[in-house]
Amino acid sequence: MRVHAYAAPAAGQPLAPTTIERRDVGPNDVLIEITHAGICHSDIHTVNGDWGPQPFPVVPGHEIVGVVTAVGTEVGTEVGTHRVGDRVGVGCMVNSCGHCANCRNGDEQYCLNGMVGTYAATDRDGSTTQGGYSTHVVVDAGFVLRVPEGIDSAAAAPLLCAGITTYSPLRHWGAGPGKRVAVVGLGGLGHMGVKLAHAMGAEVTVLSQSLKKQEDGLRLGADAYFATSDPDTFTELAGRFDLIVNTVSAPIDVDAYLSLLAVGGALVNVGAPAEPLSLNVFSLIGGRRSYAGSMIGGIAETQEMLDFCAEHGIGAEVEVIPADRVNEAYERVLASDVRYRFVIDAATLR
Ligand code: NAP
Ligand code: ZN
Repeated sequence: MRVHAYAAPAAGQPLAPTTIERRDVGPNDVLIEITHAGICHSDIHTVNGDWGPQPFPVVPGHEIVGVVTAVGTEVGTEVGTHRVGDRVGVGCMVNSCGHCANCRNGDEQYCLNGMVGTYAATDRDGSTTQGGYSTHVVVDAGFVLRVPEGIDSAAAAPLLCAGITTYSPLRHWGAGPGKRVAVVGLGGLGHMGVKLAHAMGAEVTVLSQSLKKQEDGLRLGADAYFATSDPDTFTELAGRFDLIVNTVSAPIDVDAYLSLLAVGGALVNVGAPAEPLSLNVFSLIGGRRSYAGSMIGGIAETQEMLDFCAEHGIGAEVEVIPADRVNEAYERVLASDVRYRFVIDAATLR
């Protein structure tokens, strides 16, 4: 099946309309007519070749929401599986081995045999995956999520990456009542981190480059908001947080942020800059602190996050754009000028 898409032809090149081939619907597959695709900063890192060599052309997009239009013969018809007409989502991965210890544990994103990314990855049939800036996608049913009623499709799309990427570490490190959580960077991931940590009952602080978005941050659920450009922030907040989730797409001064952790606290990097980061081990030793990383979340956890969002009335704050504005949206994300996720209206790809 040939479908319309937007692709980057080579590293750093603007995206342009194209057509791509989608595989036939196999026995375990679901064909999805895409309605919305979020723009994640990882799409931009990929298109710009920040993370090293990879195949081009690439159709980015791993925050996909759409409607099921066909299912394979082995995809069950009982409630809980995917049926024609269902509203569904696809995130950052479309397959994994299914039998390694991590897959069996529900951590498909850490598959020991390598999970298959939604784009720029080698699929199990040897083809290169292409993502959600497209009208249709065919995905293994086990990697398709149910979008609960009550969340608007455009607001749901970013949950598939920005939502789960912040939900998973917040849950893992126990964000909840009595915990002080800081979110560094109020972009796509950061604004979801604030909403989710607040809904979990934690006391939430935003650490942003400036106070420009303070009003928004407080409206999204933050209890406090500080500018990291102000050196007083780091003295005032020293030793304060149980958990800091760093969503910044560029390198940070790790030691400065570690100094904001209470004894036993953790600084968790979800931001994925190309450059290596360094730290002074005394920043850890001096407070039994941890510096960790986290990548998206497993499939069951992603469903749990979607259900949590529906229960708490949470969606992303989005600016829906036609596909021909994707390059402009990339420029604005790079300039930290996003409030708080661009989402492509896939109908404009046709
Ligand atoms: P985004 O919307 O661009 O948000 C990043 C925010 O970081 C910006 O809004 C800005 O917030 C802050 N920032 C940007 N440049 C900065 C700089 N030079 N110094 C200090 N702060 C800066 O990006 P996103 O889509 O949320 O993604 C953020 C990062 O997470 C990217 O590196 C992405 O690849 C990565 N990511 C990782 C995973 C994972 O599984 N670990 C999943 C998705 C994305 P303020 O304006 O508030 O300062
Ligand atoms: Zn992403």
